[in-house]
Amino acid sequence: MKKIFVRGLLSVTLLLCSVSLLFGWGMYGHQHINHAAVFALPPEMRFFFYNHIDFLTEEATVPDLRKYTINDRAEGPRHYINIEGMETMPIDSLPRTMKDAKAKYDDKTLQKMGMLPWYIQEMMEKLTKSFKEKRKTEILFIAADLAHYLGDANMPLHTSLNHDGILTGQKGIHAFFEAQLPEYFGDSYNYKVNDAVYLPDVAAATWELVKHSNSLADTMLLIEKNLRATFNNEKMFKLDEKGDTVRNKFGLLTRSDEYAAAYHKALNGMVERQIRHAIQDAANFWYTAWVNAGKPDLSDLDPQELTKSNRKRYEKELKLLKKGQLMGFKVELEYSR
Ligand SMILES: [Zn+2]
Repeated sequence: MKKIFVRGLLSVTLLLCSVSLLFGWGMYGHQHINHAAVFALPPEMRFFFYNHIDFLTEEATVPDLRKYTINDRAEGPRHYINIEGMETMPIDSLPRTMKDAKAKYDDKTLQKMGMLPWYIQEMMEKLTKSFKEKRKTEILFIAADLAHYLGDANMPLHTSLNHDGILTGQKGIHAFFEAQLPEYFGDSYNYKVNDAVYLPDVAAATWELVKHSNSLADTMLLIEKNLRATFNNEKMFKLDEKGDTVRNKFGLLTRSDEYAAAYHKALNGMVERQIRHAIQDAANFWYTAWVNAGKPDLSDLDPQELTKSNRKRYEKELKLLKKGQLMGFKVELEYSR
């Protein structure tokens, strides 16, 4: 895409983006990511995190509530980065850390273009400090938020200037991909990932995942564009008895079951793969912060009775997770079936 074209459309795009609700993975995806990540942690962390798995699961969507419900203006740019709109390309030439980014760009640019990869690194520093000082509430709060931003980073359109497909005439694809598809098909995904691994270079790991996610943006847009060509409008959207297009709970148009199934199939597992990536990243980042904090003992942060009484549910969940499934929480759905 030509830079001049990109700049010309930038302000229009940002304006259009700001009026629709674009979450990251929807409530379904974010809650599944945070919940599943707990089981990839080593035992020294897992039982403490499991004691608070309900909090970690609910808190998964709070960064989006701060953005939309509370209307916190500082929150928005933490959820995305418009890679193609930055002054410097390719991705490898972008500043690695928040300090570098602040030295290079003014506040206005960062607000406009987003700061997701840099904010993830800031949250990592905060989480490491919380572990070091064994501040229980901070650990849980920051860990849950960090996993949200890692989730967003794994949603290809959160790294792209073409945030909601407007530049390519595909408005609405954002929520379709991140919320409607996981809600429709996510119950069959496999949520069991590998054991958490230590990340020796957090900045490098952050950029690696952002780069990978960004590389998928064109593909997922193109796949939908090709699919659109084979559907007429009447078949593309879900209609009610009166013939009006059904809207989700945030007023966004709902694609038809047929169209959703066709797109999901054409994506060939991309949604599930990216959600699994996000789960793995959340566990890896949490684990790395704990190691960098000197592996503090977390077992004395909760009363022994709590850990003991949670044991039964934990065993049940673990058994189910062996088959790739999760239990113990109910997501507030955005789309009706
Ligand atoms: Zn978000």
